[in-house]
Amino acid sequence: MAFLVRHETWGTIDSTVPDLGCGKPWETVHRARPGAPLTCRECQHRMVPVRSSRGLRFFRHAALAPKCSMTGGESIDHHLLKLELAHAARAAGFFAEYEVSAHDGSWRADVMATSPDGKQRVALEAQLSPIPPEEIQARTTRYEEHGVAVCWFGITPRPWVGSVPSLLVNPNGDKSSWAVSAGIARISKLDEQASFQQWTPVGDVSLADAVAWILSGKMQPHKPLSLAKSVLDITNRQWPSSWTGSTLHQWHIWWTASRYAEIDAQQDREYREQINLAMLRAESPMKAFRARTQIEQISRLKSLVLQQFNNNATRSSADFHIRIDSNYADGLAFYGYRWNGSGTGRDIKPLVVVCPDILGGRRWGNNVPVAFPATYRDQLSGIKDAWLFDLERNLIWAAEPKSSIVSAALASWQSATTDDEALPER
Ligand SMILES: [Zn+2]
Repeated sequence: MAFLVRHETWGTIDSTVPDLGCGKPWETVHRARPGAPLTCRECQHRMVPVRSSRGLRFFRHAALAPKCSMTGGESIDHHLLKLELAHAARAAGFFAEYEVSAHDGSWRADVMATSPDGKQRVALEAQLSPIPPEEIQARTTRYEEHGVAVCWFGITPRPWVGSVPSLLVNPNGDKSSWAVSAGIARISKLDEQASFQQWTPVGDVSLADAVAWILSGKMQPHKPLSLAKSVLDITNRQWPSSWTGSTLHQWHIWWTASRYAEIDAQQDREYREQINLAMLRAESPMKAFRARTQIEQISRLKSLVLQQFNNNATRSSADFHIRIDSNYADGLAFYGYRWNGSGTGRDIKPLVVVCPDILGGRRWGNNVPVAFPATYRDQLSGIKDAWLFDLERNLIWAAEPKSSIVSAALASWQSATTDDEALPER
């Protein structure tokens, strides 16, 4: 079966366009007496025009044809799907041609969609017959080597589906429109408590829209990067039944918008950072602390803290020690003697705990102040006894009150002035 054949005098003719692409009506070849001089573009065998019961026009090989890639194996559905793919590509503003071959013969596209400027080529393949995954992977690679993008369209789950850029599509009852049943997903948080985002299917997409999104780059093939390696049906949290079957259990690549691909990449980066940090913590908590606070010289931090919290002139720095203390999550505790409020009694308690980030900054018992890098300045509301430090400026200061005494006085003076002016004149 083919849509394109060679006519002895008119050249290549196309059964999918009303004038055969050469200004002649279909009737000049169909059931013509004598038969029209038509030959296969591949094997040069004689071809016969056919109109199916559904009105589809195509050509088939006359009897006794040699072995030819255009012979057999191609069903009516295959031809209908090719027609639909070409229509969709044209509706999206691309040129579409059937059965386009590479110059070196390394591939032949069912439908080749080409952008108006000719720079972008996308092969749209109706792959309804079985094909080994290795073979379809090799064919995909050959397209890539020629700078041609490809999407493989299937009707039922088969082992190759989801191993290369693919979509499963279904003809509607009258085959006048096709819909995507699997192959497009988005990533989102399935519920508020979820620790990471999951892929879910995007439904109700027509084949025409899917082709337009592929050609415009609105969606791209994406291999999942993060922990979320499945596409989940929202109700049963399993692979959607329309995506998989007895011969296909999961997909390794699916179509999505670039913003979802970015979320996946970011989620993967964050996960790897957490893993690295956990390994770093297990190996050396102090190294992990340095990595997270970006403080190479702990001694600078120590002198800054002691300068602020050492209110005992006779105390030497030997009276202090610092350590990561599990009582304070991954905070670095600066221990020193503190007056315990009774006579000359002294307790050894942290003067301050330096926390790498705001999550560790809960308030622990016994009024232990916490200090954060100054970059957390704007996130400290609600945290009592919070301090900020800036090693570049060699400063440490209480985060509350935010306004200085001078600015508070100025504010009160301004409000008093305003009140005076507001008094009614007598
Ligand atoms: Zn042939």
